Amino acid sequence: MKLVVLGAGESGVGTAVLGKQKGYNVFVSDNGAIAKKYKQVLLINEIPFEENGHTEATVLIADVVMKSPGIPDTVPLIKKLNELGTKVISEIEFASQYTDATIVGITGSNGKTTTTMLAHHILKNGDLNVGVAGNIGDSFAEQVAENQYDKYVLELSSFQLDGIDKFAPHIAIITNITPDHLDRYDYKFENYIDSKFRITMNQTKDDYLIYDGDDIVILKWLENNKTEAKLLPFSIKKSLKKGAFLRGNNIIIKTNKDEIKMGITSLALQGKHNVKNSMAAAMTAQLLKVRKETIRESLEDFEGAEHRLEKVLKISGVQYINDSKATNINATFYALDSVKTPTVWIVGGVDKGNDYFDLMPLVREKVKAIICLGTDNQKIVKTFENVIDLIVETKGAEEAVKVAYKIAEKGDSVLLSPACASFDLFENYEDRGRQFKQAVREL
Ligand code: ADP
Repeated sequence: MKLVVLGAGESGVGTAVLGKQKGYNVFVSDNGAIAKKYKQVLLINEIPFEENGHTEATVLIADVVMKSPGIPDTVPLIKKLNELGTKVISEIEFASQYTDATIVGITGSNGKTTTTMLAHHILKNGDLNVGVAGNIGDSFAEQVAENQYDKYVLELSSFQLDGIDKFAPHIAIITNITPDHLDRYDYKFENYIDSKFRITMNQTKDDYLIYDGDDIVILKWLENNKTEAKLLPFSIKKSLKKGAFLRGNNIIIKTNKDEIKMGITSLALQGKHNVKNSMAAAMTAQLLKVRKETIRESLEDFEGAEHRLEKVLKISGVQYINDSKATNINATFYALDSVKTPTVWIVGGVDKGNDYFDLMPLVREKVKAIICLGTDNQKIVKTFENVIDLIVETKGAEEAVKVAYKIAEKGDSVLLSPACASFDLFENYEDRGRQFKQAVREL
């Protein structure tokens, strides 16, 4: 059987290694240059590859093609493969055939990484032999090849889910659904929603679907479509018979008769969105029979993920917060919601079609100054100039931080939560977050 892997990044190279181990005749093809560390893996494993372009004749004779999530379905080569009827799948689909491990799959527009890391943290503390993959660390395929774990927590993008056929997680989580990546979905929100719900399409009645029971997009889909899985919603607005919800200042986790109760204020991750993420992760742990005490302790001692509402330093009574990963309005909404002090807000970058008006109430309530950090800030300035007196445009993290330092007073927060992608001024959101932190440290 001939397996062609398109895209030699983490997931592609992992798939190639696993494919070779399972007896496939593997060929790897990348449209751009292949990073040195991945080339080395391919060479060591004696897997043939090409870079800076695809040789069509070689690709088109594949029995099965694994496509990296970054490659859209609209590129001519993928169209040709589809016309030929060749199976084009994602890494998750390929690798999951070769493991009997219990899988927790986590998708959603925001909160995937946080919930994935948190769930992994609790399960690991519960002494389960559990791996984590998705956007984090080694690829799922590589870990399956090494066969180390009997449980996996997987962060799944909609692109990974578009490439599944039989993949069925025992526990699926949908954190929330708000418009994102619409350029890859014909600018139709319905298509993106359907893509997220593919996570449950192969689940059976012995599986679970955990989801935000306050999210009208999710609720509407569930009303109009079917899933076999047992439903476990979480809510911060209503009480539930089964699922996770608030009772006074406690969160209640109740996937079965047994109830776990825990004070909101003792959660390591603060903010409403993190209450939801904590609920989803805790339900997962309860389903997998982790002890109550371990679940509570783990929710208390979890150290958050970098660039997600990450507290950097307090300088002269001003708290600096790095939320560089907030690349859309919804994420920034939760960031502004979670700050409790007057805030100097650093925002901007590459706008993916934002409607900033959604943020207006929070901005009026909390923001004392706006610092734009992007090459084109027109939309932000226009939206907020009548509400915020002080709007400053900057062209780099260091400049933005220095301006913020001048404006902020004791008791304020300086929040980098850009609501935009970073590619105009930075390599990626990590680079933006790191430059921000570096500038803060140098104040
Ligand atoms: P993802 O992996 O889905 O991009 P992350 O956990 O990396 O999600 O968080 C991305 C951004 O969204 C961060 O700014 C974070 O503070 C915010 N966020 C985290 N969880 C949620 C949630 N449940 N709802 C809305 N925003 C969230």
